[in-house]
Amino acid sequence: MHQPLMEINTLCVVIGAGSAGYGATIAALRDGCSVLLAERHGFPGGMGTVSGISSYINYKYHGEDLSESVYRALRKDIFEADGGYLGDGEHVDFFDVEVSKRIMENHILRMGGKLLYHSLLRTISRDAGGWILRFACKGATVLVRARFVIDATGDADACTLAGAGYTHGRNGDGKTQPMSMIVQVGGFEPEKWAESGGKLIHGRYACGGDCFSGEIAQARAEGYWNIPRENIAMWWAMPKNPTHITINGSRLLGYDACNPFDVTAAEIEGRKQAGVIASFFKRYIPGFANSHILSTGPQIGVRESRRIVGLRTLTEQDIAVQRQPDDMVVRCAYPIDIHSPDNAKTNFDKVNGELLYGIPYGCLLPEGLENMAAAGRCISASHEAAGSFRVMPTCMAIGEAAGVAVALAHRQGIMLSEVDPRNIRDRLDEALGK
Ligand SMILES: Cc1cc2nc3c(=O)[nH]c(=O)nc-3n(C[C@H](O)[C@H](O)[C@H](O)COP(=O)(O)OP(=O)(O)OC[C@H]3O[C@@H](n4cnc5c(N)ncnc54)[C@H](O)[C@@H]3O)c2cc1C
Repeated sequence: MHQPLMEINTLCVVIGAGSAGYGATIAALRDGCSVLLAERHGFPGGMGTVSGISSYINYKYHGEDLSESVYRALRKDIFEADGGYLGDGEHVDFFDVEVSKRIMENHILRMGGKLLYHSLLRTISRDAGGWILRFACKGATVLVRARFVIDATGDADACTLAGAGYTHGRNGDGKTQPMSMIVQVGGFEPEKWAESGGKLIHGRYACGGDCFSGEIAQARAEGYWNIPRENIAMWWAMPKNPTHITINGSRLLGYDACNPFDVTAAEIEGRKQAGVIASFFKRYIPGFANSHILSTGPQIGVRESRRIVGLRTLTEQDIAVQRQPDDMVVRCAYPIDIHSPDNAKTNFDKVNGELLYGIPYGCLLPEGLENMAAAGRCISASHEAAGSFRVMPTCMAIGEAAGVAVALAHRQGIMLSEVDPRNIRDRLDEALGK
């Protein structure tokens, strides 16, 4: 059957509606650009919704909120819609997945953005007019002409298809942080959890950071745990229902998120692990005796895959010396947090409990490609450095910086690489009301 071609022109196309793509889209729209946001799933949010990772780690620096205005506005509206709650620390905002999807969509559409769901980027090329992208969609191939491209796919799909150099995983062997299948569990009984000494935050929300290592050791010894992981994080999935818990406890070692057969195998193995986790909770953790799996989310969680080779590359040394260069556009305070690519360990590098560094603009710009930027976890960085800025509010801030850069380049009639990073930072500060 002949697949019809649908064509659309836009100033900027953003590929991937995760945290970074959302930040980029809102920022570019806010500054008057026309934006098409293309996403392979049927809703925005990326890992935060696709995989059910609803805990937005917004690490503060000595109490200073480093998030940018797009994240703050989103957070405000989610909380006002009763779709968010705070843990007992200051560093994490918990969002209801369904509320987040709806509010993100509302923001994009209200600002005049165009959404294209169920669209997978297939090809990208250039002519004198700019970039030409083809998306495989149900019922048609969609051809997009755009002057600027923001690659927020997490996997640097657009940049690598366009010929950018990339790295994958860690230096030397290319191994990545493992994927994890997030599990939603229903039938939790908070009273029983609290009676046994379990913590209830604000008297309602059940939460545990990285925990249950004692129970895991016992279950392993008794033959009820075979997952290569030593700790589990759990949190309440939504502020409306105290019986519904999100669990991050699986680990899929050795799979490549850009290899389709690996991803398939990881999804299958992830669901097996979800079964092990559900049985473990029923048997070992108070309050879960009558629990059951509600869902595992439409897609397995991917922590790491390809990153572009950019004009600048962020390294772990930059983070260790807390470098804040003149060309930084985003600041981050989250420590390096690496789930081992090899075994059950997790390395959470607290750097004496405090940290602050800047991400240079050049990390967003792929070497050798003009008017294209990467945003989110696929910017130019080492495996170790990416273990830090990968948290969602920071990825959203990187996206916001990319969107501002596009608007500046458009207004000034210059290339993305010619935009002065200080002007990006000034605009981000202005949006914060500074
Ligand atoms: C298991 C796990 C637990 C985590 N825990 C936390 C946590 O507690 N707190 C926290 O803040 N962060 C956490 N993270 C990290 C965080 O979720 C990611 O680093 C972050 O979501 C990256 O944002 P992004 O926008 O760069 O990419 P993503 O969120 O991955 O979004 C990329 C988007 O692009 C779309 N896409 C990809 N390829 C294409 C294509 N070719 N065409 C069209 N669309 C495409 C995807 O469908 C997706 O929507 C966790 C990650 C994982 C995997």
